[in-house]
Amino acid sequence: MVPTDSPTDPRQAAERPFWPAVRTGWRRRCPNCGKGHVLRGYLTLKSECEECGLDLSKARADDGPAYVTILIVGHLAVATMLHVFIAYRPGPWEMAIGFTLGATALSLYLLPRLKGAFVGLQWAKRMHGF
Ligand SMILES: [Zn+2]
Repeated sequence: MVPTDSPTDPRQAAERPFWPAVRTGWRRRCPNCGKGHVLRGYLTLKSECEECGLDLSKARADDGPAYVTILIVGHLAVATMLHVFIAYRPGPWEMAIGFTLGATALSLYLLPRLKGAFVGLQWAKRMHGF
């Protein structure tokens, strides 16, 4: 099977759908075929898709997924802290322990999904040689 990122592929010049690629990446699947996995383990990118052969070594997510994770978790945590404090008046240790665990769990959930979404974004926009 010829990978669709091959320079000889006539679909090379065609526009790639942005949001489907980001959603597929969010599910940590290959944005090209939607079947193969983009991550090996928790956050390590595979070198290529096991289904379609897409070269995933071109992806450069760098710190982007971490920044977006911090952005989302930080905004949710501040808004939720304010609401919980005003509504229930918990003690300082209850607030500290509860929000530390919540922010950590949400960060661990979001980080690999956002990394996959970044790979999908880069593939859809043909960034870094995709
Ligand atoms: Zn694939």
